[in-house]
Amino acid sequence: MNVNSFSELVEISEKTGVPLDKVVLHWEMLDTGNAPEKIVEEASKLLAIMEEEYESKKGKTFKTLVGLTGTNSKKMLEYLPNTIIGENAFTAATIAITMAESNAAMGKIVACPTAGASGVMPGVLLTLEKLGVERQKLVSGLIVAGAIGKIISKRASLSGAESGCQAEIGSATAMAAGAATHATGGTPTQVANAAALSLKSLMGLVCDPVGGFVEVPCVKRNASGAVIALLFSDIAKAGVESVVPFDEVVDAMGKVGRSMPESLRETGKGGIADTPTAKKIVQDFSNKFKL
Ligand code: SF4
Repeated sequence: MNVNSFSELVEISEKTGVPLDKVVLHWEMLDTGNAPEKIVEEASKLLAIMEEEYESKKGKTFKTLVGLTGTNSKKMLEYLPNTIIGENAFTAATIAITMAESNAAMGKIVACPTAGASGVMPGVLLTLEKLGVERQKLVSGLIVAGAIGKIISKRASLSGAESGCQAEIGSATAMAAGAATHATGGTPTQVANAAALSLKSLMGLVCDPVGGFVEVPCVKRNASGAVIALLFSDIAKAGVESVVPFDEVVDAMGKVGRSMPESLRETGKGGIADTPTAKKIVQDFSNKFKL
Protein backbone atom coordinates (compact mmCIF):
# COMPACT_ATOMS: atom_id res chain seq x y z
CA MET A 1 0.00 0.00 0.00
CA ASN A 2 2.16 2.80 -1.33
CA VAL A 3 0.25 5.88 -0.23
CA ASN A 4 1.62 9.27 -1.22
CA SER A 5 -1.46 11.39 -0.74
CA PHE A 6 -3.75 12.05 2.17
CA SER A 7 -6.70 12.04 -0.20
CA GLU A 8 -6.17 8.29 -0.81
CA LEU A 9 -6.60 7.58 2.92
CA VAL A 10 -9.62 9.88 3.11
CA GLU A 11 -11.20 8.23 0.07
CA ILE A 12 -10.75 4.71 1.44
CA SER A 13 -12.28 5.77 4.75
CA GLU A 14 -15.20 7.63 3.16
CA LYS A 15 -15.95 4.79 0.71
CA THR A 16 -15.65 1.87 3.12
CA GLY A 17 -16.89 3.50 6.30
CA VAL A 18 -13.75 2.30 8.10
CA PRO A 19 -12.71 5.07 10.53
CA LEU A 20 -9.79 7.15 9.30
CA ASP A 21 -7.50 6.16 12.18
CA LYS A 22 -8.05 2.47 11.35
CA VAL A 23 -7.21 3.12 7.69
CA VAL A 24 -4.02 4.86 8.84
CA LEU A 25 -3.14 1.93 11.10
CA HIS A 26 -3.58 -0.47 8.19
CA TRP A 27 -1.37 1.72 6.00
CA GLU A 28 1.28 1.88 8.71
CA MET A 29 1.22 -1.88 9.14
CA LEU A 30 1.77 -2.45 5.41
CA ASP A 31 4.32 0.36 5.17
CA THR A 32 6.41 -0.36 8.26
CA GLY A 33 5.42 -3.83 9.43
CA ASN A 34 4.34 -2.43 12.81
CA ALA A 35 1.30 -4.11 14.29
CA PRO A 36 -1.70 -1.79 14.77
CA GLU A 37 -1.88 -2.58 18.51
CA LYS A 38 1.76 -1.58 18.87
CA ILE A 39 1.16 1.75 17.10
CA VAL A 40 -1.86 2.48 19.29
CA GLU A 41 0.22 1.65 22.36
CA GLU A 42 3.02 3.97 21.22
CA ALA A 43 0.57 6.80 20.48
CA SER A 44 -0.97 6.34 23.92
CA LYS A 45 2.51 6.57 25.47
CA LEU A 46 3.20 9.81 23.59
CA LEU A 47 -0.05 11.28 24.86
CA ALA A 48 0.90 10.21 28.39
CA ILE A 49 4.22 12.07 28.07
CA MET A 50 2.35 15.22 27.02
CA GLU A 51 -0.09 14.83 29.94
CA GLU A 52 2.59 14.18 32.56
CA GLU A 53 4.92 16.88 31.31
CA TYR A 54 2.24 19.55 31.25
CA GLU A 55 0.99 18.64 34.73
CA SER A 56 4.52 18.78 36.14
CA LYS A 57 5.57 21.95 34.27
CA LYS A 58 2.52 24.23 34.19
CA GLY A 59 3.01 27.56 35.89
CA LYS A 60 6.73 26.93 36.38
CA THR A 61 9.63 29.21 35.53
CA PHE A 62 12.13 27.73 33.08
CA LYS A 63 15.84 28.43 32.85
CA THR A 64 16.59 28.39 29.14
CA LEU A 65 19.95 28.67 27.40
CA VAL A 66 19.73 32.32 26.36
CA GLY A 67 17.00 33.32 28.82
CA LEU A 68 14.71 34.91 26.23
CA THR A 69 11.73 32.89 27.41
CA GLY A 70 10.76 30.87 30.46
CA THR A 71 8.36 32.96 32.52
CA ASN A 72 5.27 32.96 30.33
CA SER A 73 3.47 29.82 31.49
CA LYS A 74 2.82 31.32 34.92
CA LYS A 75 1.72 34.68 33.49
CA MET A 76 -0.76 33.02 31.16
CA LEU A 77 -2.28 30.77 33.82
CA GLU A 78 -2.84 33.81 36.03
CA TYR A 79 -4.40 35.79 33.16
CA LEU A 80 -6.84 33.02 32.15
CA PRO A 81 -9.93 34.46 33.98
CA ASN A 82 -9.55 37.68 31.95
CA THR A 83 -9.32 36.10 28.51
CA ILE A 84 -11.21 37.75 25.68
CA ILE A 85 -10.41 35.08 23.09
CA GLY A 86 -12.18 32.44 25.17
CA GLU A 87 -11.13 29.90 27.77
CA ASN A 88 -10.52 26.99 25.38
CA ALA A 89 -8.35 28.90 22.93
CA PHE A 90 -6.40 30.60 25.72
CA THR A 91 -5.89 27.27 27.49
CA ALA A 92 -4.55 25.74 24.28
CA ALA A 93 -2.15 28.67 23.92
CA THR A 94 -1.06 28.37 27.56
CA ILE A 95 -0.35 24.65 27.26
CA ALA A 96 1.50 25.19 23.97
CA ILE A 97 3.71 27.91 25.48
CA THR A 98 4.39 25.85 28.60
CA MET A 99 5.53 22.87 26.55
CA ALA A 100 7.60 25.04 24.20
CA GLU A 101 9.28 26.77 27.14
CA SER A 102 9.98 23.37 28.64
CA ASN A 103 11.55 22.36 25.32
CA ALA A 104 13.76 25.46 25.37
CA ALA A 105 14.87 24.38 28.85
CA MET A 106 15.67 20.85 27.66
CA GLY A 107 12.53 19.35 29.19
CA LYS A 108 10.98 16.11 27.99
CA ILE A 109 8.86 16.70 24.91
CA VAL A 110 7.19 14.83 22.07
CA ALA A 111 8.67 16.14 18.82
CA CYS A 112 5.43 16.34 16.94
CA PRO A 113 6.67 16.78 14.30
CA THR A 114 9.75 18.65 15.62
CA ALA A 115 11.08 19.89 18.95
CA GLY A 116 10.59 23.53 17.98
CA ALA A 117 6.91 22.89 17.26
CA SER A 118 6.36 20.49 20.16
CA GLY A 119 3.84 22.72 21.96
CA VAL A 120 1.14 22.75 19.30
CA MET A 121 -0.14 19.17 19.58
CA PRO A 122 -0.32 19.04 23.40
CA GLY A 123 -1.93 22.49 23.34
CA VAL A 124 -4.77 21.08 21.26
CA LEU A 125 -5.07 17.54 22.65
CA LEU A 126 -4.87 18.48 26.33
CA THR A 127 -7.44 21.24 25.83
CA LEU A 128 -9.80 18.68 24.29
CA GLU A 129 -9.09 16.37 27.21
CA LYS A 130 -10.08 19.13 29.64
CA LEU A 131 -13.30 19.47 27.63
CA GLY A 132 -14.07 15.80 28.26
CA VAL A 133 -13.01 14.22 24.96
CA GLU A 134 -12.25 10.56 25.71
CA ARG A 135 -8.60 9.58 25.88
CA GLN A 136 -9.05 6.83 23.29
CA LYS A 137 -10.37 9.43 20.83
CA LEU A 138 -7.36 11.63 21.48
CA VAL A 139 -5.07 8.68 20.74
CA SER A 140 -6.89 8.03 17.47
CA GLY A 141 -6.54 11.74 16.67
CA LEU A 142 -2.82 11.47 17.28
CA ILE A 143 -2.64 8.52 14.87
CA VAL A 144 -4.41 10.55 12.18
CA ALA A 145 -2.03 13.45 12.89
CA GLY A 146 0.87 11.06 12.33
CA ALA A 147 -0.45 10.29 8.85
CA ILE A 148 -0.78 14.00 8.06
CA GLY A 149 2.83 14.55 9.15
CA LYS A 150 4.04 11.54 7.18
CA ILE A 151 2.37 12.77 3.99
CA ILE A 152 3.91 16.24 4.50
CA SER A 153 7.35 14.67 5.00
CA LYS A 154 6.92 12.60 1.80
CA ARG A 155 5.65 15.42 -0.41
CA ALA A 156 7.41 18.44 1.13
CA SER A 157 9.35 18.78 4.36
CA LEU A 158 9.01 18.99 8.15
CA SER A 159 12.25 20.89 8.57
CA GLY A 160 12.66 24.60 9.25
CA ALA A 161 16.18 24.44 7.82
CA GLU A 162 14.78 23.09 4.58
CA SER A 163 11.44 24.85 4.19
CA GLY A 164 11.05 27.50 6.88
CA CYS A 165 8.75 27.57 9.89
CA GLN A 166 5.75 26.78 7.69
CA ALA A 167 7.19 23.25 7.62
CA GLU A 168 7.49 23.07 11.42
CA ILE A 169 4.78 25.17 13.09
CA GLY A 170 2.70 24.99 9.90
CA SER A 171 2.89 21.19 9.78
CA ALA A 172 2.30 20.84 13.52
CA THR A 173 -0.78 23.04 13.16
CA ALA A 174 -2.13 21.00 10.26
CA MET A 175 -1.52 17.80 12.22
CA ALA A 176 -3.19 19.18 15.35
CA ALA A 177 -6.18 20.51 13.37
CA GLY A 178 -6.61 17.07 11.81
CA ALA A 179 -6.27 15.38 15.20
CA ALA A 180 -8.85 17.68 16.81
CA THR A 181 -11.28 17.20 13.95
CA HIS A 182 -11.00 13.41 14.02
CA ALA A 183 -11.12 13.19 17.81
CA THR A 184 -14.27 15.27 18.01
CA GLY A 185 -16.22 13.35 15.40
CA GLY A 186 -15.37 15.17 12.17
CA THR A 187 -15.52 13.25 8.91
CA PRO A 188 -12.32 12.25 7.06
CA THR A 189 -13.04 14.96 4.48
CA GLN A 190 -13.36 17.51 7.28
CA VAL A 191 -10.04 16.30 8.72
CA ALA A 192 -8.37 16.97 5.35
CA ASN A 193 -10.05 20.38 5.11
CA ALA A 194 -8.96 21.37 8.64
CA ALA A 195 -5.37 20.38 7.84
CA ALA A 196 -5.40 22.19 4.48
CA LEU A 197 -6.92 25.39 5.87
CA SER A 198 -4.41 25.43 8.74
CA LEU A 199 -1.39 24.90 6.54
CA LYS A 200 -2.56 27.56 4.09
CA SER A 201 -2.90 30.07 6.90
CA LEU A 202 0.77 29.59 7.79
CA MET A 203 2.09 29.33 4.21
CA GLY A 204 5.33 31.25 3.78
CA LEU A 205 6.18 31.47 7.47
CA VAL A 206 9.94 31.87 7.70
CA CYS A 207 12.34 30.21 10.13
CA ASP A 208 14.15 33.01 11.92
CA PRO A 209 15.24 32.01 15.43
CA VAL A 210 17.17 34.74 17.22
CA GLY A 211 20.78 33.62 17.42
CA GLY A 212 19.72 30.22 16.10
CA PHE A 213 18.24 29.31 19.49
CA VAL A 214 14.74 27.81 19.60
CA GLU A 215 13.35 30.49 21.91
CA VAL A 216 12.29 33.61 19.98
CA PRO A 217 10.00 33.61 18.02
CA CYS A 218 9.54 29.84 18.30
CA VAL A 219 7.86 29.53 21.71
CA LYS A 220 5.06 31.99 20.99
CA ARG A 221 4.48 30.59 17.52
CA ASN A 222 3.45 27.36 19.23
CA ALA A 223 0.61 29.29 20.88
CA SER A 224 -0.60 30.66 17.57
CA GLY A 225 -0.38 27.18 16.01
CA ALA A 226 -2.55 25.62 18.73
CA VAL A 227 -5.21 28.32 18.43
CA ILE A 228 -5.21 28.19 14.62
CA ALA A 229 -5.59 24.40 14.76
CA LEU A 230 -8.68 24.65 16.98
CA LEU A 231 -10.08 27.45 14.83
CA PHE A 232 -9.80 25.54 11.56
CA SER A 233 -11.04 22.33 13.13
CA ASP A 234 -14.23 24.19 14.04
CA ILE A 235 -14.39 25.92 10.66
CA ALA A 236 -14.00 22.60 8.82
CA LYS A 237 -16.62 20.89 10.99
CA ALA A 238 -18.96 23.79 10.26
CA GLY A 239 -18.79 22.60 6.65
CA VAL A 240 -16.34 25.15 5.24
CA GLU A 241 -14.10 23.50 2.67
CA SER A 242 -10.60 24.19 1.45
CA VAL A 243 -10.88 25.06 -2.26
CA VAL A 244 -7.40 23.61 -2.79
CA PRO A 245 -7.06 20.00 -1.52
CA PHE A 246 -4.63 19.21 1.30
CA ASP A 247 -2.10 17.36 -0.87
CA GLU A 248 -1.83 20.30 -3.26
CA VAL A 249 -1.42 22.69 -0.32
CA VAL A 250 1.45 20.51 0.89
CA ASP A 251 3.05 20.59 -2.56
CA ALA A 252 2.70 24.38 -2.62
CA MET A 253 4.29 24.61 0.83
CA GLY A 254 7.22 22.51 -0.42
CA LYS A 255 7.65 24.78 -3.43
CA VAL A 256 7.56 27.90 -1.27
CA GLY A 257 10.14 26.32 1.02
CA ARG A 258 12.48 25.52 -1.85
CA SER A 259 12.26 29.10 -3.09
CA MET A 260 13.06 30.62 0.32
CA PRO A 261 16.47 32.25 0.62
CA GLU A 262 18.88 30.59 3.02
CA SER A 263 18.63 33.54 5.43
CA LEU A 264 15.02 32.52 6.15
CA ARG A 265 15.73 28.84 6.77
CA GLU A 266 17.04 28.46 10.33
CA THR A 267 20.30 30.26 9.77
CA GLY A 268 19.43 32.97 12.29
CA LYS A 269 20.24 35.60 9.67
CA GLY A 270 16.85 36.83 8.45
CA GLY A 271 13.39 37.79 9.62
CA ILE A 272 13.11 38.42 13.36
CA ALA A 273 16.72 37.28 13.78
CA ASP A 274 17.84 40.20 11.62
CA THR A 275 16.28 42.95 13.76
CA PRO A 276 18.43 45.39 15.78
CA THR A 277 17.08 43.97 19.05
CA ALA A 278 17.88 40.40 18.00
CA LYS A 279 21.38 41.38 16.90
CA LYS A 280 22.01 43.11 20.23
CA ILE A 281 20.82 40.04 22.14
CA VAL A 282 23.21 37.85 20.17
CA GLN A 283 26.07 40.30 20.66
CA ASP A 284 25.44 40.49 24.43
CA PHE A 285 25.27 36.69 24.62
CA SER A 286 28.55 36.38 22.70
CA ASN A 287 30.24 38.92 24.96
CA LYS A 288 28.96 37.21 28.10
CA PHE A 289 30.28 33.82 27.07
CA LYS A 290 33.31 35.23 25.19
CA LEU A 291 32.23 33.45 21.99
S1 SF4 B 1 11.35 29.63 13.77
FE1 SF4 B 1 12.56 27.90 12.99
S2 SF4 B 1 13.49 26.97 14.80
FE2 SF4 B 1 11.76 28.26 15.50
S3 SF4 B 1 9.99 26.85 15.59
FE3 SF4 B 1 9.96 27.84 13.58
S4 SF4 B 1 11.07 26.38 12.28
FE4 SF4 B 1 11.57 25.82 14.38
